[in-house]
Order: sequence, then C-alpha cells, then structure tokens
Amino acid sequence: MKVLKFGGTSVGSPERMKSVSKLITDGTQQIVVLSAMSGTTNNLVEIADYYKKGNDDGASNLISALEKKYAGVIEGLLNTQEYRDKAAAIIARECDVVRSFAHKPFSIQAEKMILARGEIMSTNLVQLYHEENNISSVLLNSLDFMIVDADGEPVLSEIETRLKKVLSQYANTTLFITQGFICTNDKGEVDNLKRGGSDYSASLIGAAINAEAVEIWTDIDGIHNNDPRIVKDTHPIAEMSFDEAAELAYFGAKILHPSTVLPAKVKNIPVLLKNTMQPQAKGTIITNKTTGTGVKAIAAKEGLTAIKIKSGRMLLAYGFLCRVFEVFEKYKTPIDLITTSEVALSLTIDKTDYLAQITDELKKLGTVEIDKDQTIICIVGNMIAEEQGHAAEVLNALKDIPVRMISYGGSEHNISVLIDNANKEKALIALNDNLFK
Ligand code: ADP
Ligand code: ASP
Ligand code: MG
Repeated sequence: MKVLKFGGTSVGSPERMKSVSKLITDGTQQIVVLSAMSGTTNNLVEIADYYKKGNDDGASNLISALEKKYAGVIEGLLNTQEYRDKAAAIIARECDVVRSFAHKPFSIQAEKMILARGEIMSTNLVQLYHEENNISSVLLNSLDFMIVDADGEPVLSEIETRLKKVLSQYANTTLFITQGFICTNDKGEVDNLKRGGSDYSASLIGAAINAEAVEIWTDIDGIHNNDPRIVKDTHPIAEMSFDEAAELAYFGAKILHPSTVLPAKVKNIPVLLKNTMQPQAKGTIITNKTTGTGVKAIAAKEGLTAIKIKSGRMLLAYGFLCRVFEVFEKYKTPIDLITTSEVALSLTIDKTDYLAQITDELKKLGTVEIDKDQTIICIVGNMIAEEQGHAAEVLNALKDIPVRMISYGGSEHNISVLIDNANKEKALIALNDNLFK
C-alpha cells in the first residue's frame, strides 16, 4: 500500500480536485491524505484572530465569504442537485462549528477546532465527488487514529494500532481518503501537527502501515537546489538521502514540513516528491542512499533568536554545557545551531515562548546577549563537510555578508551559517551564483 499526500494547491479548485481523483484511481491500494484547499487554513487563522481580538463581526464576515467560496466549489465539482445539497450541508455544518465560537471567551482550543475545518471540508468534497461518479473510496477520520502526546508529538505505536484496526474494517477497499494536519491530543481534543503538517501526517501514516512509498504531491517538480521563491533558475534534485532532506526541511525548505522525513527514515520508506500539475516530471526521490558529490541544495530558516552566554568559569569547567542545556530542557525549547569557544557559547532557538525565563536562568551562568531576527542558511550535500574546499566555497560566497555563527562538522552533509534576516535573500543569491554556476 502507498500513501499519497496532496497539498493545498493540488486540491485548490474543482478542476484540481478532479485531476487528483484521476491520479489516485489507478486501482492500486492507497491511502490519500488531503490538505485543506489553498487559502482556507489562512482564512481560518484570520477568523480565529478576529475572535481573539473580540471582533465577532469581523469573524462572521469572513465565515460568510468562505461559505460563498465553497458554494462556487460545489457547483464546479458536483453535477447533481442531490450531491450539491449533500455538500452544501457539510459546508454549512463546518461553518456553523466556526460560528459557534462567537460571543465566547477565546481559547487556544477554539482556534484548533476552527483550523481543523479546512481538511474536513476538502476530504468530504472529494469523497462526495467519488460517490457521485461511482468511484469506490472510503473516507477515514484521521482524528480516530492520528494521536499526539502532551507535547504535541505523534505517538507512532498508538497511530499504528488504531489505524490498523480502522483499516481492518475495510478488507476489500483499495482507496482510502483522509485528512492531513489534524489529530487528537492526549486530552482527546482536536489538535494539529502545525502549519504545513499534512506532509507529516502522510509520513506518519506511511510508517504506521509500513507503506511501500510515501508520495508528496505538490505544486513543484520536487525539491529544488534553492528556494524558488527567492532565487531564479533553480532546478529539481533527482535523488536525496533521508538525512540530506531532513536537514533541508528542518532548515527552511517549505516544500516539506520539518518533521516529515523522520518517520519514513525510521521505517526506510522511500519518499517521492511529485508535481500534481506535471505528473510526468521525475520529481525527487528520498531514500537511505547517499549519492552525488558537492553541494546539492540550500535552504534558509528565518526568524530565529541567537543567544550568547559568556562565562569566565567556562574555562576548564566540565558541566557548564550541561547546565546550559538543562535550562533549555526545562522550558522544552529545542536548540538549532550551536558554536562554542573556550569562554563563550552561542546557540539559536526558534521557539521563543519562554525566552524571558530562559534568559533569567542563563544569567546565573554568565553574561547573556540576545540577537533576534536571525536566519540560518543550511547548505546540504553528500560529504560536503568532509571533502576539502566546500567550506571555503561557502565562506567565499558570503564574503560580503556578516556571518554571526558557522556550524561545520556536526554531520558530513551539512554546513550552516547564521546571518541577519535582512541578508537572507542576498546570501541565497550569492551562494547560488558561487556554488551552482
Ligand atoms: P503544499 O501546499 O503542496 O504543501 P507548499 O506551498 O507547502 O505546498 O510547498 C511547495 C512550495 O515550497 C513550492 O511552491 C515552493 O515555492 C516552496 N519551496 C521552498 N523551498 C523549496 C525548495 N527547495 N524546493 C522546492 N520548493 C520549495
Ligand atoms: N492546511 C494546513 C496548512 O495550511 C496543513 C497543510 O496544508 O499541510 O498549514
Ligand atoms: Mg506544505
């Protein structure tokens, strides 16, 4: 069995939904994970934001606009009045869930309930299209099996047990459709895998059922060697290793949710990235094989915070790093990049919810400096941190840009540097010009 995931643009219009339906009805057994239609999750975020600000009218106007948009989608997707009525009833039901949070104190849980509507609507619409056209498929509710723990981390063993139980009820079914992104948390509430999380849903499902492959279908022909939104003339990379792809996804390549690669890597399941608009294009295949030489790709993750801790006592003091890391562990804040010298330690974090508390505690260990608005540029390629010359190439390309940190040697296929957000575009273009031309 394969798992195929289609992103927002891939289900972004009635025509696109029909194309997806063609791609998934080749008779092979598959679980198809769908995102919300493009724009919908952003709309829902905006609606939740109106509630948060106490502007129920603002929310109400946006809900009406959303309902109207879906009325158009229904008309383009379905032909018979019977199915159009069924679809309209589902959209009305979902919009009513969103409306039910008016005149109530705002809560994070309300926001999660609101955000979940997008995937519920898109999957129901595709399922209704199948029913109307006598295409056999079963709609699974991902809230029944996609389980996260108290820290929001998916519990693969639980997902596996629940999903297998669900699937066992449909022995003769070849095509399953389910929602990406949404899940159930340890309190039994609706939750999500964070923005872009449908990719992660797909790889978790793939790992849970030991799928033969996980295919991520999107609006571009695979992972490109640089961010195509910023750099011109980028090209797709045919093959990548799990580790290379994981670094790129984690450090900013928007095409993959940062955690997508891990479940597939653990179960050694190939991940294929494909273009829905150009299904014949080769795309990118991610496996456990490392191939090629030199720099393969570059990504950037912005909005990070750099923290420097200087301590005279670090000199020869074993246990110092441990005490620093304990602070981050206490506040459940992952560290991205680290560099050390004899008297100081610099590191970066993405999650700043507890920055004030972390800073207070670190001040007990040394002098603390904080720099906000930092960007990690991640340069990935097979053995680039072992073969001679690549570090020089990278630093030479960045000679006109102030570099705040350099991380080299952590893994053999990655070099990372930290710069100001303001220099991100300049750095990506300079690296592109120097490393790929
Ligand atoms: P989906 O809605 O299908 O999940 P996303 O918008 O999340 O799609 O991801 C696809 C987009 O990622 C592409 O349209 C592209 O602009 C962007 N992107 C950023 N970096 C890369 C990269 N290195 N390779 C390919 N696409 C990238
Ligand atoms: N719909 C969600 C989002 O826009 C999840 C996803 O598309 O992957 O973030
Ligand atoms: Mg995405």
